[in-house]
Amino acid sequence: MYRAARLRSWREPLGFLLKATDKIGVKCYKTSSALNSSAGEHVANGDILYKQEHLQLRQSLRKIIDQEINPYVDDWEARGQFPAHKVFKTLGSAGFLGVNKPTEYGGLGLDFSYSVAVAEELGHINCGGVPMAIGVQTDMATPALATFGSDKMKRTFLVPTIAGDMVACLGVSEVGSGSDVANIQTKAVRKGDDYVINGGKMWITSGCQANWMCLLANTSDRSPHQNKSLFCLPMDAKGITIAKKIDKMGMRSSDTAQIFFEDVKIPADHIIGEEGAGFTYQMIQFQLERLWGTAAALLPMDKLIAETSEYTRQRKAFGQPILNNQVVHFTLAELQTEVEALRSMLYRAVGLYIEGNDVTKMASMCKLKAGRLSRQVTDSCLQFWGGMGFTNEVLVSRFYRDFRLLSIGAGADEVMLSIICKYMNILPQASGKKK
Ligand SMILES: Cc1cc2nc3c(=O)[nH]c(=O)nc-3n(C[C@H](O)[C@H](O)[C@H](O)COP(=O)(O)OP(=O)(O)OC[C@H]3O[C@@H](n4cnc5c(N)ncnc54)[C@H](O)[C@@H]3O)c2cc1C
Repeated sequence: MYRAARLRSWREPLGFLLKATDKIGVKCYKTSSALNSSAGEHVANGDILYKQEHLQLRQSLRKIIDQEINPYVDDWEARGQFPAHKVFKTLGSAGFLGVNKPTEYGGLGLDFSYSVAVAEELGHINCGGVPMAIGVQTDMATPALATFGSDKMKRTFLVPTIAGDMVACLGVSEVGSGSDVANIQTKAVRKGDDYVINGGKMWITSGCQANWMCLLANTSDRSPHQNKSLFCLPMDAKGITIAKKIDKMGMRSSDTAQIFFEDVKIPADHIIGEEGAGFTYQMIQFQLERLWGTAAALLPMDKLIAETSEYTRQRKAFGQPILNNQVVHFTLAELQTEVEALRSMLYRAVGLYIEGNDVTKMASMCKLKAGRLSRQVTDSCLQFWGGMGFTNEVLVSRFYRDFRLLSIGAGADEVMLSIICKYMNILPQASGKKK
């Protein structure tokens, strides 16, 4: 009763977004007149992407983060895993796991700018691991299913994932191929009415807790860009082994698994879209992942710069606040300027994306810059905290470890540079490479 009442209070501010959810039986709350008057207008704080509705969405999410997530983050970090089912049920019940998914499958039916607003607000969580797992659920493992999947697969996997009843993971990377996605070796061979899967996946976020995996596997001997398919793979299928939970330097509250498949049989209708189109679907899915990852890095950088300003204002050395040294306040100003530049680039890329443009180049630029800048911000801020920065008692050291991943995961910096070069027409053609 108490929980239902609280969920309702979080959901109430979303009422103006939920008109369409009447169809799926979700209670629709009345819009306040104050909100009506400003709905649809861009807010007057300089944001080029967000309207009043985006900000309301973010405020509602912040309440959940403050009450249901941040108080437990230290404990989850220490345990090396957060309770994904519990947290996702809370977020799913409040509407946050399907912001841009179709209403007939339980989503809010909004455009991708609302997902970006949610991703940005998730940066208020005091670690990188929990937001990353939420991002896998909402914008990494599910976009291809929502866009190309059959109605049956969407009802079986997408609806419970949006509701927070299932945890999703994304299975692309393997032991022998991370950056070179085209080179994956896992096979799904069609046998009668089934596919039989053999191989393995590496680095799978939420892999220890997931109910299903969006799996990329080879389904033919055609060229590497035409021989792959995406599948909805139930993680309780016979022949799946969680080989280990990987011990990592950062993102500690998010579990990361190595997984093996031995003669795993799934019905042929578990394929997402067309056989052979999986590589293309995954590349499309990666664009959203990269924009999402950029958005989720912004608030932590703002927060670290603000906390470092405050700490160095209080802390004295050589008879004056550390902040008074020009190298310190100039560096913090420089970093904040860079964060704002990244924010602007992200908003522009998202604006172009929701208007239907191909933003592969800009999404890669955003991801590259986010990786580089989050390393710069965490490293510079940690330096100004001195010995305190080197302890596990301050946020800066956690983000220093967590955000190191941003230059590696979802395509390393060098892979982003290669994509940008390709779009600039300056990437040398690899000789003898299969098309
Ligand atoms: C915590 C964590 C969570 C992850 N979650 C998932 C997940 O949920 N699902 C999933 O499928 N994968 C996941 N990954 C995998 C991640 O996407 C890969 O680690 C990443 O793509 C890099 O692949 P790799 O680790 O095999 O590095 P490699 O491919 O071995 O590359 C190593 C390094 O070589 C360099 N390099 C690579 N290619 C080039 C090039 N063309 N030019 C110059 N230099 C190059 C880069 O510096 C790169 O970092 C996760 C990884 C981590 C660490």
